[in-house]
Amino acid sequence: MFDVLIVGAGSAGCAIAARVSEDPTVSVGLIEAGPDYPDLAQLPGDLRNGNNNSYTAHDWGMEYAPTPHRKDRFPRGRVVGGSSAVNTTIALRGLPEDYDAWSAAGNEGWSWQEVLPAFKRLERDLDYPGASYHGDSGPISIRRHPHDELLPAHQAFLQSATDLGYPDCPDANDPWAWGAGPQPMNKLNGVRISGAVGYLASARIRENLTILPKTLVRRLLVANGKCTGVEVEDETGAVSEIAARLVVLSAGALMTPSVLMRSGIGAREELADIGVDLLRDVPGVGKNLSDHPALSVLCEVKDASLINFDAPIIQTILRYTGEHSEHRCDLQIEQISFAGRRGGPPMFLLAPVLEYQYGRGQLKFTSADAHHAPVIENQFCADERDRAILAGCVLDTLAFTRTAPLADMIAAVKFPDPGRGHSREAIENLCQKFAGSGYHPCGTAKMGPESDPLAVVDARCRLHGVDQLVVADASIMPAVPRANTNLTCFMIGEKVGEWIRTEKNQYGL
Ligand SMILES: Cc1cc2nc3c(=O)[nH]c(=O)nc-3n(C[C@H](O)[C@H](O)[C@H](O)COP(=O)(O)OP(=O)(O)OC[C@H]3O[C@@H](n4cnc5c(N)ncnc54)[C@H](O)[C@@H]3O)c2cc1C
Repeated sequence: MFDVLIVGAGSAGCAIAARVSEDPTVSVGLIEAGPDYPDLAQLPGDLRNGNNNSYTAHDWGMEYAPTPHRKDRFPRGRVVGGSSAVNTTIALRGLPEDYDAWSAAGNEGWSWQEVLPAFKRLERDLDYPGASYHGDSGPISIRRHPHDELLPAHQAFLQSATDLGYPDCPDANDPWAWGAGPQPMNKLNGVRISGAVGYLASARIRENLTILPKTLVRRLLVANGKCTGVEVEDETGAVSEIAARLVVLSAGALMTPSVLMRSGIGAREELADIGVDLLRDVPGVGKNLSDHPALSVLCEVKDASLINFDAPIIQTILRYTGEHSEHRCDLQIEQISFAGRRGGPPMFLLAPVLEYQYGRGQLKFTSADAHHAPVIENQFCADERDRAILAGCVLDTLAFTRTAPLADMIAAVKFPDPGRGHSREAIENLCQKFAGSGYHPCGTAKMGPESDPLAVVDARCRLHGVDQLVVADASIMPAVPRANTNLTCFMIGEKVGEWIRTEKNQYGL
């Protein structure tokens, strides 16, 4: 029996485990389907290497349909640290307007002014420790590659951005700044500072924190409208139960809704389809899937020595507002250092990314088996506003391929195929067919007042209609923020962890 049992040791789960276990009187369990590597010496190379993603070694092996036209792999970390342990280490915050919109939708406590203390608390910004909006002593170290560390293509990208009229942006996490500059990143000497490294390294010595790796949660145990624990399966397939006074579901935007569905919490008809008895009709579970659609502008380079697959995959960023956009900084362009495969033609790519998404996708559930993944249907660019704005960003990106010094490095643009024309209409069609994910799914168990038919949890992340059950991870975001999502997941973990530790009566503890 734990006081607080957290399901999923990802970005949010690690932060919650660390913050709640600061109170030595509270016993905390942290369950994770994947393995645990307790110290840096045991950390495998793919998890240590913050210069590139780990795609397969610690992964759930999922697939997604970004548009109805294609299917592709969809990576998600399966290890203590979760997706923060396998990701690109881009450490960007959303815009103040993103969180103010969450608050305006009826979620008290989530406005920019109310989330800023958590963003400051989670970070140790090595470049701007004195800025009023930065923190200098949190568990997640963040720095930017200085100019002399930038690869030639990234230096050229920044120079071309200047020549195209974009302002310099030395700190992309300055809430009011925009333009091109170095990417803030949570890696130190190339080592990824994941949730496991940043939050758990110091917390795991506490006697009141127990980490349970290689343990798959099959379903929640609920009796008389109250969650009492979880049913788990170990590596051998043996099934048992773990009791808790409060269960916190932090299994990520794809698996949290799956666990809810397997437990009978979801849309009535969808539960019937997979043969699960209804516990609570919650139509929002698996809906409102929000993410960042992106396209690739693939370039063959003239000089093969520019391409090094062991170098940082990313170092710079351009955050800006589209020509006809209603929302500030709704676009990103990223220079990606290499593309294709080792030994293949030398290539890099530029990634135009839509950061403010109007459309929504959904998860579909085809089985109640805990080993089955949901079907992920993003419906990217089905909304014509998304299509038009992303197409504008692709055209802006193509301007980089014609602007020195970046243009001087490029032998040929391979995609979008210049032979088929780069008209706005042609590019919009490509967006509708080939947009892919920035790997930032969220919103599938969103927070909101009970009057919102798709709301799954309230503003304190407590499930509507089931006691002693909290959801806290990327699922609860009402919409994807205009930034890569890892820091926002840490921020959610910081807030919920602090609330559980300091306002126990709000959580029935
Ligand atoms: C390849 C890749 C690159 C990315 N790059 C960036 C980046 O550079 N910057 C950025 O900001 N964001 C990036 N992201 C996204 C970011 O990492 C995620 O948004 C964030 O980590 C999600 O946090 P979370 O807590 O919601 O879920 P996760 O971190 O995914 O954690 C969920 C955890 O729950 C566990 N789990 C799931 N189901 C069960 C179960 N049934 N039983 C037990 N355990 C379970 C999982 O194994 C996992 O450890 C990237 C993601 C990927 C995959």
